[in-house]
Amino acid sequence: MGLRGTRLTVCYNGGVKDQYGREIRDLRISLTDRCNLRCVYCMPEEMVFKPREEMLTDDEIVLVVRAAAELGVRKVRLTGGEPTVRPNLVELVGRIAAVPGIDDIAMTTNGVRLAPLAAPLAAAGLRRVNVSLDTLDPEKFRRITRRGNLADVLAGLEAARAAGLYPIKLNAVVVRGFNEDDVANLARLTMEYDWSVRFIEMMPFGGVAGFQMNAYVPSSETMARIEAALGPLVPLDLTGYDPARTYRLEGSRGTLGFISPVSEPFCAQCGRLRLTADGRLRLCLLRDDEVDLRTLLRGGATYEQIRERFRAAAYRKPWGHGLARHVIPRQRVMSQIGG
Ligand code: SAM
Ligand code: SF4
Repeated sequence: MGLRGTRLTVCYNGGVKDQYGREIRDLRISLTDRCNLRCVYCMPEEMVFKPREEMLTDDEIVLVVRAAAELGVRKVRLTGGEPTVRPNLVELVGRIAAVPGIDDIAMTTNGVRLAPLAAPLAAAGLRRVNVSLDTLDPEKFRRITRRGNLADVLAGLEAARAAGLYPIKLNAVVVRGFNEDDVANLARLTMEYDWSVRFIEMMPFGGVAGFQMNAYVPSSETMARIEAALGPLVPLDLTGYDPARTYRLEGSRGTLGFISPVSEPFCAQCGRLRLTADGRLRLCLLRDDEVDLRTLLRGGATYEQIRERFRAAAYRKPWGHGLARHVIPRQRVMSQIGG
């Protein structure tokens, strides 16, 4: 199948809706299942990665983005695994940025390779980054990531700021026994920087679900720790959809967010689909319900057939996850989905 040069009519009026009337505007693309870290909450230490030939190629990813944009998707977030370990990343970002209809490209990264990449990525069309950072203590950072250097991430953050990637968001997963008492230090960053520091409740997946459920810390506890150390959290009434409940500290430059998929699910407003690195559309982060696009992409399907499979998949996006009823996704860990 020729993936390049497909003629497109872009429909800008209204997006594709799921069976519950939620508009699908946001596509999260996992560029790889590989990673240069091994965070305890994300994957087992001896993680086995998928063969490279199972990963979607650049052409295949761009074709899916075109189909998604034609159906109303406006926002693309690149994730992984670690997106910055994918070869030709800068060129791929440029190609996605050039897709008619896509008006926002963001990336979720561990920041380790951001220092050399931030400026070329920004020049290629990347607009903003979410950097995962769970502690400001170098020893704890190494324990949580099983191999990383905190200094690399801090250099990456500085490079992102210098390259004009904005806003900068920091994501911290709170893990009992690892970083639950670091949350105030992370929150304090918002006094100095106009960053958004967000605390995420740990979710259970596959083979690491046991650890994740035992070390889970609810947002209510994280909020209480921050208030005890830094004073009251002032709620912000921000417009627009954001899974984070947003606050600020008295006199801060930045904001604090609490993302609570376990204790306060936000499924009712979810307009996201995920494309896994091996070419499945995952309809809900926390459900194993997936639609295979790769077989179609590699089997001679027309562009229209791929777009229609995307539309049909979007329509049947499930209402929400089943954690409250102990339905846990078993088929993949987080790095194989893309957060
Ligand atoms: N490697 C990149 C990074 O770490 O930012 C992108 C992929 S990572 C899977 C995306 C996000 O998922 C990160 O912010 C990470 O902290 C978060 N995450 C990983 N495992 C999680 C879990 N079990 N529960 C909640 N968030 C998790
Ligand atoms: Fe890698 Fe991101 Fe998972 Fe950490 S959270 S192991 S950086 S994919």
